[in-house]
This record gives sequence, C-alpha cells and structure tokens, in this order.
Amino acid sequence: MGKASIKYRIGVDLGGTKIEAAALDDAGRTVARRRIATPAGDYIATIAAVRDLVLALEAELGARGSVGVGTPGALSPPTGLIKNANSTCLNGHPLDKDLSGALDRPVRIANDADCFALSEAIDGAGAQAPTVFGVILGTGVGGGVVVRGKLLQGPNAIAGEWGHSPLPWPRDDERPGPGCFCGKRGCTEAFLSGRGLAEDHTAHTGERLGAPEIVAQARNGTPGADASLRRYEDRLARALAVVINLIDPHVIVLGGGLGRIERLYANVPRLWGAYVFSDTVVTRLVPPRYGDASGVRGAAWLWSAEERA
Ligand SMILES: [Zn+2]
Repeated sequence: MGKASIKYRIGVDLGGTKIEAAALDDAGRTVARRRIATPAGDYIATIAAVRDLVLALEAELGARGSVGVGTPGALSPPTGLIKNANSTCLNGHPLDKDLSGALDRPVRIANDADCFALSEAIDGAGAQAPTVFGVILGTGVGGGVVVRGKLLQGPNAIAGEWGHSPLPWPRDDERPGPGCFCGKRGCTEAFLSGRGLAEDHTAHTGERLGAPEIVAQARNGTPGADASLRRYEDRLARALAVVINLIDPHVIVLGGGLGRIERLYANVPRLWGAYVFSDTVVTRLVPPRYGDASGVRGAAWLWSAEERA
C-alpha cells in the first residue's frame, strides 16, 4: 500500500443476503456507503461483487482505502480457509487471499460478530470500556471479545463463540434441549436465536409466531408471549453469567434482531446476579450505538491508524 494514497478505511459486511460497504474518514465518520444483493451461492461472483463495491466507493471518493471485511464463519488458522460460515459457498476458500488478489492490496477479514464487537468497543456503546463482549442475537448467536481496543484472537479463531456451549444450569424441561446446526443438542444458540425463541413459544403455547410478533404481543400484555420472553431472559442471564465468570467484561453489548428487545436491558441484569460468582455485578448491559452499521464499521476498524500509516 502506498503511504500517501491511503485516505479512508473501507469496511465491507459480507452477509448472506446483502453486501454492504462504507468508507470511514479518520474521525470515524461515514463518508460514503453502498449496498448490493449477495450473489447467492456463487463464490467467484461474491469476490467480484466485493471488488466492484470497493472500487465504486473509491471512484466516488477519488481516493484509495484500506479494506477490512466482516464475514460469517472464520479463517481456520491451520488451513487458511473459511470454516463455519452459514453462507456455505464461502467455506473451504481462502477468502482473504482471493480478495487481496482481486483488490491488489492486503485485505483483512474477521468474523461478523467480532466486527460488531470491535465497532461498539472503539467508538460505540462500549467506548472507553477496557473490556467489551459484543453479542449477536439473531439468526445465530455469536460473540466477540475486545480488550483495550483490540480483538481477542486465538489459535482456533473462535474467541467469543459462546453460542455453541451448552445452556448453563439447565432445568429438567431444557434437557437435552433443541438440536443445533452444529450437530449437538442444547446449545445456547438453539435457545437464544430468533428461531430458538419462536420454537420455545410454540412448545409452550401451541402458537406459531416469529420472534418480532412474540415481542409485540408481550408488549401488549399477552401472558403467553410475556412468559416466553421471561424464559428467554432467564436463559440469557444464565448464559451471560458464564461469560462474566470467565472474562469479566466491563460492558456487554447486544446486537442482532433480538438485541432490539428493550426489556432485556433492565430484566437480564436483575437476573444474572443469581448466577455470577460475585457478591455484586457491576457489568453494564447496553444496546448498541451503531446497530446493524457496526458490521461495516468494525470491518473498517480492522486496520488501525498506525498500521495504515
Ligand atoms: Zn451448536
């Protein structure tokens, strides 16, 4: 990368249905943004789409940028190939190398939940906090850990993946628990994803409702929906208590569709004290500042100012 030519940080959020890209200036302001549909199931077309999106942003800005990409799954350290992506056409490919080749510069990639956590830790809801656990509660349940502005990255590239640990302190009626796409039963994700909430609601009420409808009914005082959210809150409190016991984050930020359920922020901290191994729990549970935009912002922040200079 030529020193003088790099002016912006470009972040790309490579999702299953859309690819979003934004350019940030040095103050973290979004100066340009574009979004296209993801070429479904086509890896080669996906690489071309990311390249075209970045080049279009740069043409609009008249300058080059550093490029970071948030993706489902992660690069497997031993193979250098994507694993665990629910957009399965990415799995088994060296996504970072292929994007670097297409864009003629180094490209950093990270898991989408890690990008969310990084964005909220750098200048979002967890800004100034030394340790942030960023959570995605949506189609899946992911997470990322940021310590003093840096993503925690381990040898298996799974730091923060709390969704595929078992739901802690399970009740009798939670064993063995729902099946999970990873092949196990009773995973935290199988309870706390949108689908997990919907299936639990059906099991207790016989009604087939999506997560947004359950939340709306609970807000209107419907007892069955309220009870489903109470069970959800208690499970979330138990699952987060294990995270607090392990890494003791200053701030936990909830992203994804279910992170928009306002009552979680008051109710879950009232419950988690019963499970955390501490006399008091001062961890803050907060909604995201940037929400869905944290995907692109965190990807952009994969390049720090010093590294780009
Ligand atoms: Zn699982």
